[in-house]
Amino acid sequence: MTSPIQTKIDFLVERAKKQNPNINEKKIRAAYECANAAHEGQKRKNGEPYIIHPVSVAEIIVEMGLDTDSICAGLLHDCIEDTEFGYKEIENKFGTSVAELVDGVTRLGMLRYSKEQEQFEDLRKMFLAMAKDIRVILIKLADRLHNARTFQFLPERKQRDKALETMEIYAPIAHRLGMSRIKWELEDLSLKCLDPIGYQEIVEGLEKQSSQHEEFLNHIKECISEKLKEAEIENTISARVKHIYSIYRKMYAQHKTINEIYDICAVRVIVDSVTNCYNVLGYVHDLYKPIPGRFKDYISTPKPNGYQSLHTTVIGREGIPFEIQIRTEEMHKMAEFGVAAHWKYKQGLDKTGNEQAFAWIRQLLEAQQDTEAEDFIKAIKVDLFADEVFVFTPKGDVVNMPAGATPIDLAYAIHSAVGNRMVGAKINGRIAPIDSQLKNGDIVEILTSKETRGPSRNWVKIVKTTEARNKIKQWFKKECREENIEQGKAELDRELKANLMYNGFYDNEEIQKNILQKFTFSSMDELYAAIGYGGITITKVLNKIKDDVMKVRKAQEKIDKLEQPQADKKKSKSETGVVVEGIDNCLVKFARCCTPIPGDDIIGFVTRGYGVSIHRKDCVNVKNNNSKDEENRWIRVWWDEESLDNKKNRFSTGLQISTKSRIGVLSDVAVLLAQAHVNVHELSAKDLNDGFGMITAVVDVSGIGQLDNIINRLKKIKGVLDVTRTAEN
Ligand code: MN
Repeated sequence: MTSPIQTKIDFLVERAKKQNPNINEKKIRAAYECANAAHEGQKRKNGEPYIIHPVSVAEIIVEMGLDTDSICAGLLHDCIEDTEFGYKEIENKFGTSVAELVDGVTRLGMLRYSKEQEQFEDLRKMFLAMAKDIRVILIKLADRLHNARTFQFLPERKQRDKALETMEIYAPIAHRLGMSRIKWELEDLSLKCLDPIGYQEIVEGLEKQSSQHEEFLNHIKECISEKLKEAEIENTISARVKHIYSIYRKMYAQHKTINEIYDICAVRVIVDSVTNCYNVLGYVHDLYKPIPGRFKDYISTPKPNGYQSLHTTVIGREGIPFEIQIRTEEMHKMAEFGVAAHWKYKQGLDKTGNEQAFAWIRQLLEAQQDTEAEDFIKAIKVDLFADEVFVFTPKGDVVNMPAGATPIDLAYAIHSAVGNRMVGAKINGRIAPIDSQLKNGDIVEILTSKETRGPSRNWVKIVKTTEARNKIKQWFKKECREENIEQGKAELDRELKANLMYNGFYDNEEIQKNILQKFTFSSMDELYAAIGYGGITITKVLNKIKDDVMKVRKAQEKIDKLEQPQADKKKSKSETGVVVEGIDNCLVKFARCCTPIPGDDIIGFVTRGYGVSIHRKDCVNVKNNNSKDEENRWIRVWWDEESLDNKKNRFSTGLQISTKSRIGVLSDVAVLLAQAHVNVHELSAKDLNDGFGMITAVVDVSGIGQLDNIINRLKKIKGVLDVTRTAEN
């Protein structure tokens, strides 16, 4: 009887032979036997025999297409750490190469991601191992992938830590190495731990739409397939829904629900030659309308990690966009397995594209042979990080800088004080110009002096990072403050005088406060300093001051105007019935919107040229009028009790009477108002829908007492539902 594990290893060997006929079957089986014996009795967290894990890891390594030694190392990868079977034993039995691979994986395994540590600290150590042998990284990725597949058996906290580490370190490395298949799986498995709810939401959303997607994709497959058949182009078409994490990222970046994300379907066409890739692209664009700007030619310009393909996004049925990737079989293998594919083609199957794409691996390995293990640092080649450089401080700390960064950038990245006191730099032990471009693996020493008078003005133009640029500007801003203030104030004063606003500005604290607020300065000195060092332009400041000064002047003119004509009309005071604060005998009118009457709480509004308009304090127009511009025009007013005693004063006010539609209700209202000896200016009725009506009346009353009386009597009329004053809300 064969055990399930035996079956597994048999299958693994078969797969390995299929991938590479030259594989050493005997050696692989021997490695399995050793690992099996070494892990005898050990169990995984889920209760399975431990050997399942190394065998599964070896399976992934086989799928990557790696060589015999890598497969053996995969089987033995946990031996040094967890069993009696150590480096020496492995070396004796399987050779130095396997022993070093296992040792490398073990050392990588000892690194733990922790939040206290900078994340790239671990990355650095991974690079060190990579410099020694890239296969160590690939085996470690396979190890992590199998562990990620079984995350659920770990305690919850450990799950999270491991998932975070996987998301932050392993998946990006898989990406840089072009191993998209592993990258996606690592990301999806990590996401499942890190945001189980978000993950589940997408899974369920996709399930709900799955038949729809299937139908959509099948249709596209058929159409393309038919077209290519006509054109006699051999092809393989696969259609799929995108990976969960890529959908997740889209949803979060675009704040959308899964139902609002359209391009979640992708189609891949694999053909036999580069020429046919472009041919297929032509046919696809015949079939479907391409979205402009979404076509990418990664064949002529491969991605930094070696990825090659044509990408285009087109509009399918019902306007739903989907992405099509077109590539050759070789490109496809590369896209899926990245650097791992290198081993497959190393046997000379393809010497053009891959040779170039993986020139960096060769460099890596060559550099490694030159220097041996003695000096890892110089052996590091991180050419695949096209947009970043990794440099070292003399103490061996790694600093990650953008490509093109100079020693000045580095100095400011360490600390602004280091930057400000920098006088020179040593790169790899030699004095170098401070504008040199840093290269990967450079050891950079920043030379500083306390005597220095600070950065030079043209550094701003040299530096690559915004951080350094800002810090340099900051220095000039701070160090020359006195000078800046003096110069700024002189400039402002000169301009104010030239524009006849000097007094207007300095006499009015409001205006000064406004300016400071507008530019978020806390003091006038700050304003002067900013003008002085060029942080803001004088024109900008002046324009703002001009607006404010003009406003104040106009308001003053208004008030002057109001005061003048009324000065002659002393007698009119008693006729208006209202006193306005601070202004004697001014022109007063009652607002039509709320028609105030004696007894109402009132407020005045200085109109533009028509005196003061009196409103009820509860008028909607008072409540709604909050604009800054109008704020200062509201003014306090009172009823003039003295003049009100004069019984001739009658005040118009509006009423709204809501009623049921009943014949005669309007005449009942009219009769009541006549009996109350009220002068009626307006009386109109309007039919509303649904059997209701609205009567509007404008009547003259002496004050609130009389009005309340009338309202109460109106409310008693049959069919009257409610009586309110106009502009009440
Ligand atoms: Mn392991």
